[in-house]
Order: sequence, then C-alpha cells, then structure tokens
Amino acid sequence: MMTMPTGNGARGSVAIVGAGAVGLACARALQRSGHAVTVFDPAELGSGASSGNAGLIAGSAVIPEANMRTLCEIPQLLFRANGPLTLRLSHLPRMAPFLWHFVKSCRPSEFDRLSRAMAGLSLAGFDHWMALLDDLEEARSLFRRDGCLYLYLSDKERRKAENDNQTRRARGMPLVELTPAEVKERVPDLGIETAGAVLAKSSGHVVAPDALCRTLLQRIIADGGTFHPVAVTDLVTAEKRVTAVRASSGDDFPADRLVLAAGAYSRPLAARLGLFPPLDSQRGYHIMVREAANAIALPMLVPSLGMAVTPMREGVRFAGLVEFADMDSAPSPALHRLLKHSARRLFPQMQTETAVEWAGQRPSLPDCLPIIDRAPGFPNAYFAFGHGQMGLTQAAVTGHAIRALIDNATPPVDLTPYRATRFSKRGA
Ligand SMILES: Cc1cc2nc3c(=O)[nH]c(=O)nc-3n(C[C@H](O)[C@H](O)[C@H](O)COP(=O)(O)OP(=O)(O)OC[C@H]3O[C@@H](n4cnc5c(N)ncnc54)[C@H](O)[C@@H]3O)c2cc1C
Repeated sequence: MMTMPTGNGARGSVAIVGAGAVGLACARALQRSGHAVTVFDPAELGSGASSGNAGLIAGSAVIPEANMRTLCEIPQLLFRANGPLTLRLSHLPRMAPFLWHFVKSCRPSEFDRLSRAMAGLSLAGFDHWMALLDDLEEARSLFRRDGCLYLYLSDKERRKAENDNQTRRARGMPLVELTPAEVKERVPDLGIETAGAVLAKSSGHVVAPDALCRTLLQRIIADGGTFHPVAVTDLVTAEKRVTAVRASSGDDFPADRLVLAAGAYSRPLAARLGLFPPLDSQRGYHIMVREAANAIALPMLVPSLGMAVTPMREGVRFAGLVEFADMDSAPSPALHRLLKHSARRLFPQMQTETAVEWAGQRPSLPDCLPIIDRAPGFPNAYFAFGHGQMGLTQAAVTGHAIRALIDNATPPVDLTPYRATRFSKRGA
C-alpha cells in the first residue's frame, strides 16, 4: 500500500463543509496528498447520519431503490399500517422535484445503468476505507468483514428477492443460500421462523460509526488540519471562483478550493454555485439495545421490516425505515415504537424499553447515486453529497475521487454517472 505524504499545505488550502463520513474522508484523502484542510461543521460530532446509520459496508450495495417494482409497491407501502415507508403529507409539495426524477429513474431501461453505478462505488467501499486508514489502526480496528445476512420471513419474500440476488451475483457479490436450519445455527437467539437467508460474504460493517468519525477528525487535526465548529452560511466568490467561506460567526475563511459535503443540508450552498439538485432527505431511525451486546455475531438485513440489525461495540443496533418529512420536523415516536416492535419480533427476549433512540437525515438523490463532481462554472469548487442509503460505504471512495479531481489524477472509478448536471435539462 502506498503511503501518501500528510498535509503540509504544499498543494494549497481546501475548505470542507461538513464533518460527516463523506466530508471527513475527503478531508483525510486531501490531507494525505499534501493539501491543508479546514473542516467546518456546527453539529455535535456523532449526531448526524454518519454516526446513526446501520454501520453496513456494502449491505444492499447494488440494488437501486428507484426501480419499477418499488414504484408499483409505493402505494401499498405507504398505506400499510406499521410499514417501513412513511410520508408526511405536508412535505409533498417540497419533494415534487425529487418525485419527478425518482419516477424517471424507475424506468426499466435505467435499472442496469444505476445498478452498475452503485456497484462502482459500493463494492470497492471496504477496500477504499482500508486504504484511507492504512496509517490509522485505531479506526481500521472498527471494521469487520463477517458478511451480512439477507433474512427472509416468508417464502413469498424469498422468491421475490431472487431477481435482486441474481443482480447481486452478476455484479460480483458472492452469495451463499442458507436454509432456515442454517440460519438458526448462525443466529441461535432468533425467535421467529424464517424462510432462510442469503449470506453476502463480502459485506462488512463498522462497530462504532461515531468513533470512526471522531478518530478521523482527531487524526486530521493532529496532522495539521483545522476544525471550526461553525456553520458555513455563504460562499464568497470572485470571477467564478470561490475565494472564501463565510461562517455563522460572521468570519470569512479564505480557501484555494472548496468541497461541499454537507449531506442532506447541501442544497442552499450548491444553489449559491448555480446548482439546484433534487436533493431530499429520507429520515431514518435507530434504536440501540445496549444490554444485548452479544445477541448476534453478524449483521442482518430484514427487507420486509425495512431494517438492519447490526452487532456494534455498545450493543445491537436496529436501524432503517424511510420517512419523507421536512428536515426541521420532529421525529416520529411511532417509528421508534415500530423498530422496538420489530426487534422483539425477531428477538422476543430483547429488552427494548431502555433502548437509546436516534433519528437522522439520509441525503438522498432520486437516482440513488451521489453527486461527485467539480461545480459547473466554478473550477475550484467540488461537490460530494447525496449518498442516500450508502454514504458510509461510499465515503472513502468518494474521498479518493475528490482527491483525484482536485489533483488532476485518474479517479478510482469513472465519475460520469455521478455528475452534477445530470438532473438539469443541460446535463440530461
Ligand atoms: C438509519 C440509517 C441507516 C443507514 N445505514 C447505512 C448503512 O448501513 N451503510 C451505509 O453505507 N450507509 C447507511 N446510511 C446512510 C449514511 O449514513 C449516509 O449516507 C451518510 O452518513 C451521509 O454522510 P454525509 O457525510 O454525506 O452526511 P452527514 O453524515 O449528514 O454529514 C453532513 C454534515 O454536514 C454538516 N452541515 C450541514 N450543513 C452545514 C453547513 N452549512 N456548514 C457546515 N456543516 C454543515 C452537518 O452538521 C453534518 O454533520 C444510513 C442512514 C440512516 C439514517
């Protein structure tokens, strides 16, 4: 593995907006190639999607939620009591651009392209994390590669998943079919009859996503990077270049380059640079059952419950669900109750009363792909946002891609599917 020099600023300064997994991975990748990095984020580290997620690396990986089957199922999913998908009607007008592009992305002719583009980022996700952290053992030690079970609760569900599993195999994901008895052997505490499972052998997980972010930021600072716990409220531009970021403190911080990685909150600053992406938030939920630290040995995805179950350092995390709602609205207590109910359905002995509850925003674009690109018309500004359900998986590869764009090097994957203008008439 090649060791990169750490950031002495010889290549100029980069302001990074957002200290989630994506912003931090970009910052570290740039620092290691000689850039002086400054990261901005007003939120408490560990409070956003990058720490509240299910921790899976390449969990569902290559199946875009934008597909014809999902589109047909949406009415049924929305009206199903206690279903994994909810929409607050007050949010509907705001999500019209997202919906329009989502429907277009569901066309059967798009499936193969989107699936390949997801695979391009996701399947290399684990290896890119290992490369990014090859000098940071404390963070590397948070990663496991034990695989992930797709657990089916009925034969109908298992049959329905056959096409998805064919696609996974076609993209190069090794899958092993497990009978109900074999599932029971691997997860002895499971208190429900299953119709078997499929084991995705190459998937990994992170046992403490918040510690990953914390450790990364500490190392960035130790190697000379700067962190400002403030929001970036505006960008200062001159002659089609970003010259500084303006912070909520009122200060301007000059920078040679800008990376916008503010997750679901990226839209206002992207708009300052003339881009209006149909970015929306899919709020997700988790509960963490601390007492159950040893209940399972490997992560599981339970598609019918819209939920992942992940063994983490501090307990078992049940995470998932999708809620379309205004970002400033309060999380729904009913969805936390639903997660607790599902947890007890799988593990009747699980004590969920004292579970820690969390909710946060997935930064979602309608075609399930992020934007990783230079800002059109602003050659020193870069976009890295919109990673949806896959941002933990794709953060390190995104960091390496942004570094390649800035350093004029060959990116780790062809970045055409992730271009910024793909939703505008100009870029369609
Ligand atoms: C329940 C749930 C389960 C998930 N499970 C998985 C999984 O198993 N695997 C996977 O790969 N992905 C998963 N995801 C998705 C993943 O967590 C996200 O895609 C990823 O965290 C997005 O990272 P980010 O850095 O882009 O955004 P964020 O983590 O949201 O970080 C953006 C940061 O930008 C900051 N910010 C916003 N505005 C400003 C501003 N103006 N100035 C400065 N800073 C600003 C915010 O405070 C925030 O800290 C899950 C998400 C959820 C919600």
